[in-house]
Amino acid sequence: MATAANQMEFNAGHRVAPWMSEEHAQLADMVERFFAAELVPNMDRWRRQGYVDREFWNQCGELGLLGASMPEEYGGSGGDYGHDMVIFLEQARVGDAGWGFGVHNIVARYILNFGTDEQKQRWLPKLISGELVGAIAMTEPSAGSDLQSIRTTALADGDDYVINGSKIFITNGQVADLIVVVTKTDPNQGAKGISLMVLETEGAEGFSRGRNLEKIGLKAQDTSELFFENVRVPRENLLGGAEGMGFVNLMQELPYERLIIAMAALGATEMAVRETIQYVRERKAFGQPVMGFQNTRFKLAECKTRLEVMRAFVDSCVQKLLDGRLDNATGAMAKLWCTETQCEIIDECLQLHGGYGYMLEYPIAQLYADARVQRIYGGTSEIMKEIIGRALDAD
Ligand SMILES: Cc1cc2nc3c(=O)[nH]c(=O)nc-3n(C[C@H](O)[C@H](O)[C@H](O)COP(=O)(O)OP(=O)(O)OC[C@H]3O[C@@H](n4cnc5c(N)ncnc54)[C@H](O)[C@@H]3O)c2cc1C
Repeated sequence: MATAANQMEFNAGHRVAPWMSEEHAQLADMVERFFAAELVPNMDRWRRQGYVDREFWNQCGELGLLGASMPEEYGGSGGDYGHDMVIFLEQARVGDAGWGFGVHNIVARYILNFGTDEQKQRWLPKLISGELVGAIAMTEPSAGSDLQSIRTTALADGDDYVINGSKIFITNGQVADLIVVVTKTDPNQGAKGISLMVLETEGAEGFSRGRNLEKIGLKAQDTSELFFENVRVPRENLLGGAEGMGFVNLMQELPYERLIIAMAALGATEMAVRETIQYVRERKAFGQPVMGFQNTRFKLAECKTRLEVMRAFVDSCVQKLLDGRLDNATGAMAKLWCTETQCEIIDECLQLHGGYGYMLEYPIAQLYADARVQRIYGGTSEIMKEIIGRALDAD
């Protein structure tokens, strides 16, 4: 039987997911309060300036958010993937898509999973404290989906590698201090020639950043072109110490990375539905609240139903991730379905706002602008279908 508590949970969006432990739930409460105080009031200013203040990164470091899932020996909190998922969800639930924690978190995870002991000691504590902000540079002007055809090279020369080439669309590109650069150590090979080089940007000669690219959304997130002209990095900066492992390493983390994007889709869609319900209750047309029209209730009923289906799928994927069972095709399905559905629902919600929905001062307009790229980065929807399609063939 429905109780008042059930009803509140229905409206609030079941914040405590089935995969959450008591600790995850406590983290969610803490992060919700912290974002309300320190993120939400700054979002407009960060959108105008085009990047998130470094002080915010440092605050997140102090609170333990940057190392929530990192081992304690490197200064982390010793949690699991679920702790990071809690943070991604809370970020999206307040409508933020600017703070580039997803990418930063992925950089730390590459170093933890594939780095040598020396590399972990050297970089993880600083990534966890916020002293270093991370970026990952794969995409090039002439190679995005087709990653194997990248042209940036890192050729051995004495005790160094020398990097030449350029990257584009790099999140955190303006602010990053530590960039995992996807390079070819053997330009004659495809995937087997790919290696991950870790570049410390401070004082790196021959390294430069292009302008902060202007985008239709994600205004608070800096996105850049990066240039490498005979940039020397010591051999110790080859991630994991062995050449040719880059592509394999990138593939291993993909299901997790795609689930981060699906989680962001869930949080943003939840906010869109919540904001729209509130708006149509207050807005009047033909002498009644817009919520009074059957069309509005039907549209919102559909949106809410699809939102809850999305949540159930994401929750089941997080559980698989925690159990070490999240496969590549399921990760791709999560990204594909959640981001496509996010865009459809947010579009419906914007429509219910009428002209006000097109005005950037309304959160729904921001959500609309931010949502579009979700179907492109981290692998496009078409590439997700390729991955899922190939898995069908494998059975
Ligand atoms: C805001 C933003 C942030 C980003 N952040 C980063 C980052 O931090 N690091 C990074 O390395 N990259 C980043 N990217 C790049 C992003 O991952 C790529 O844009 C994306 O992978 C697509 O590559 P592309 O732009 O070169 O498009 P293309 O690969 O040129 O694709 C063009 C079109 O062709 C389609 N297509 C391509 N191949 C196939 C195929 N086999 N079958 C069917 N259709 C196909 C695509 O789906 C797409 O519709 C970011 C991009 C944006 C916009």
